[in-house]
Amino acid sequence: MALLYKSTRGDKNYITASQAVLKGIADDGGLYVPCSIPKIGFGLEDTLNMSYKELAYEVLRLILDDYTEEELKSCINGAYDEKFDTPAIAPLRLTKDCGVLELFHGKTIAFKDMALSILPYLLKTAAKKNGEDRTIVILTATSGDTGKAALEGFADVEGTGIIVFFPQDGVSDVQKMQMITQEGKNTCVAGIKGNFDDAQTAVKKAFTNKALKEELAERGYVFSSANSINIGRLAPQIVYYFYAYAQMVKAGRLECGDNMDFVVPTGNFGNILAGYYAREMGLPVNRLICASNENKVLFDFFETGKYDINREFILTSSPSMDILISSNLERLLYHLSGSTEVVKGLMENLSKDGSYDFSADGSCFIGEYSSEEEAFGAIKYLFENEGYVIDTHTAVAYSAYLKYIRQGRGGVPAVVVSTASPYKFAKDVLGAIDGKYKGTDPFEAVRILSEVSGTEIPAPIKDIDKRPVLHNFCIERDSIEEFIKDRLN
Ligand SMILES: *Cc1c(COP(=O)(O)O)cnc(C)c1O
Repeated sequence: MALLYKSTRGDKNYITASQAVLKGIADDGGLYVPCSIPKIGFGLEDTLNMSYKELAYEVLRLILDDYTEEELKSCINGAYDEKFDTPAIAPLRLTKDCGVLELFHGKTIAFKDMALSILPYLLKTAAKKNGEDRTIVILTATSGDTGKAALEGFADVEGTGIIVFFPQDGVSDVQKMQMITQEGKNTCVAGIKGNFDDAQTAVKKAFTNKALKEELAERGYVFSSANSINIGRLAPQIVYYFYAYAQMVKAGRLECGDNMDFVVPTGNFGNILAGYYAREMGLPVNRLICASNENKVLFDFFETGKYDINREFILTSSPSMDILISSNLERLLYHLSGSTEVVKGLMENLSKDGSYDFSADGSCFIGEYSSEEEAFGAIKYLFENEGYVIDTHTAVAYSAYLKYIRQGRGGVPAVVVSTASPYKFAKDVLGAIDGKYKGTDPFEAVRILSEVSGTEIPAPIKDIDKRPVLHNFCIERDSIEEFIKDRLN
């Protein structure tokens, strides 16, 4: 029997995986969740000799189960190819303390490539399977990395268009440059005056605006999402948790079958939720350590049971985690409570009061957080002791992990999930390594980082400051819907 998906907020429409990928978000504003989380049918020992693609197939066939074998394999083959700079796709680096899963070897040098290199294929296949022949318009709010990865994934993909909104002053210089120099005649990028939460909320509103949807449908357009609210983003992210586990075993850091911890630098809660799905599917995970930066809403939530966004939004040097409204937490609330009624109530409280109460006690999640100082300290520590350079987001997780073991809470092997190349945030990384580099021009910092670390500048950002700017929009956050209509004219 097919696995069905339903909205976290109780909409009675049950749909298949490919339909959920196509829709992105449910009509009632809820997120699609699988009615039951499938268990793996393979043994963990079997994964030890699988390539990334083989493992991706074994995992995805369970969770995206209405795709045929041929369809899935063709999506996987299209995605995980030479676009990645290593055949391992997601290599594991070992440090003294733990494993570091490097998810930044794709085209935009951040972990969003892991899912966004396959999403266009999943979406095109879903459209074909479900007889959708309108142009699919991908609406995306980005805290910096999703935008570029989605643009790369969808640029010039026939039958699609993509519009990306980023917080004008809330992304790194390299991130911004990557986006506004994007080529492809179906791409559009706009800065918005506001922070990521403003962008995400406005985009979610556009998605559920019935009048807008109808008007655009008449003109041959249908919306979908490349944000992690789309289950097509989450599903491919489950794969690398299994892959990391196998690599830890192969490296002799873990006995096959034993438990391990994952430490995940978290913003919208999509990455770590994929880890939760991996665990529910049968991966032996002890704890999922949710690492936040100074926007530590999630830390407070896991500590106190109160989710509260009534606080200052802090711009940090890990901008992709500068988020107060972590969308995917809604999915976890559903899985832990088992009740769409409960979730609906909590989400109503969130939009009314900016807070809600819910206890996640007894779950496998633990909250940790790192200040800017602590994260910079982790960069310096790893560079000085092991000659290994990590980015500012990975540093938040690494430093959170060091705190966690110092509190005596470790005890099992762990993997820190590394979400971006240090080159993407070269200025801050360099400043952390040596104070004398503070204030370096961000693009000059890329070149210096290469010298200091003895590593090569990744091809995707080489000479990025010399590319022509192709997108120059900056709009008010409440004019997003007008903007979309204009651009589609
Ligand atoms: C998106 C992103 C994150 C946060 O991931 P979520 O799935 O939103 O929790 C962390 N680090 C980097 C570099 C990112 O791009």
